Amino acid sequence: IVILVVFSKLLTLDLLFKSSKYYDWFQTDHLVTIVIYTKQKDMNAELVIVDCQDKRLRGEIIMDDHSYLVEVVNIAEKVGKVEIILNKKDNIHWKILGQPWEGHNTFIKRTDRGLFYRKCRLVSKTEVTHDTKLFCLMLPKGTHLCVPTGQHVYLKQIIAGTEVVKPYTPVLPFLPLDFQEPPRHDGVHIYLMIKIYSCGLFTQALDHLQIGDYIFVSNPEGNFKKSQVQTSEDLILLAGGTGFTPMVKLLNFALTEVSCVRTVKLIFFNKTEDDILWRNQLEQLALKDKRFDVQFILSQPTKDWVGKQGKISSSLLSEFVKRSRRDSRVLICICGPAPFTEQGVQYLKDLGYSQEEIHAFTA
Ligand code: FAD
Ligand code: NAP
Repeated sequence: IVILVVFSKLLTLDLLFKSSKYYDWFQTDHLVTIVIYTKQKDMNAELVIVDCQDKRLRGEIIMDDHSYLVEVVNIAEKVGKVEIILNKKDNIHWKILGQPWEGHNTFIKRTDRGLFYRKCRLVSKTEVTHDTKLFCLMLPKGTHLCVPTGQHVYLKQIIAGTEVVKPYTPVLPFLPLDFQEPPRHDGVHIYLMIKIYSCGLFTQALDHLQIGDYIFVSNPEGNFKKSQVQTSEDLILLAGGTGFTPMVKLLNFALTEVSCVRTVKLIFFNKTEDDILWRNQLEQLALKDKRFDVQFILSQPTKDWVGKQGKISSSLLSEFVKRSRRDSRVLICICGPAPFTEQGVQYLKDLGYSQEEIHAFTA
């Protein structure tokens, strides 16, 4: 099956929807093609989420704050492999695509769609610091899912007989340093950098997962828009602890795909030196790319720390948050413990930055 998402100039969404002519399907001996017509100009792989498991096909297309769904069960015949292209297993003529299922052929607000989870396998678990690990999860064969920059997913586990759900922000396997391969956007692996809390309900259970065990991963969510970065000349990232996670893809995106970006600065707040995530990689990136600069600030340093010390404050921010030119277009992103983020936003506003120049990652 090939799922084609087509930008249609001829039909409006309303017309398509009223006539139920949103999607169509046809076949050759080896392939079934589902065509979905959208009015969206900037369609890309991140806006298409496909799951094909257990004779159920679910194709979700994200259109701004709406979601269109093709969802059929008892999919007519066997399917070989799903990426966006699904190959027919047997060379048989399909009379129907499948039986329409719950949300089939609906175009509704994304927030009304509800989360869809698929079962992913834990393929590796590596230490980042004394309490933080990088988990690599593998999506099932029949799934195509790319988590957009600035968005998070929900993980779901059954803990002591109860379903528990927590949000996590996917990162890349490493920062864009040229001696390594470019980060994989293979649509198969999801990397999560997660701090294990000694009394944490979810993270303790996560830490006890063995390689090969399964965990449920949801569709992406979040209100960050890449276009916010695409027009920025100065990108300033304020991170507290694991609030670093959304900054990873943001950094990569700005430095590798945004031509107007002149400077990217990360101001990274941690308790101690041992808590700094990917310190080595960040320092190497700063050496490699002159546009990038990192400043570590510790709130509980040992006495041999020669770097900056303190908590997020107006005076620290006025020292480090600056435009590279007087009239630079700036975007400041902030993420960390809720009070850290709330105070940070207030200090930035007090320093004269506008609402449009600030993006806070919150729950
Ligand atoms: P709980 O059982 O809820 O708490 C137990 C103890 O752990 C608390 O008493 C406290 O000491 C500590 N603790 C728990 N939660 C927090 C917290 N939020 N802040 C400070 N201390 C806490 N975490 C990551 O490690 N990586 C991520 O990529 C990530 N992304 C997130 C994205 C979003 C949108 C949000 C809202 C949160 C994100 N988190 C992330 C935090 C994560 O969702 C959980 O809150 C965290 O893993 C703790 O869960 P727990 O069940 O183990 O702890
Ligand atoms: P942490 O190690 O406890 O703290 C990191 C830094 O923030 C430390 O310097 C700490 O200083 C400072 N800090 C903590 N509380 C503060 C407060 N009330 N005011 C000012 N500074 C404060 O952080 P963590 O355990 O990694 O937690 C990271 C947080 O980020 C979690 O709450 C997580 O939910 C959140 N997060 C959110 C998202 C999202 O997208 N919304 C994504 C990832 C993570 P002191 O404690 O020494 O004061």
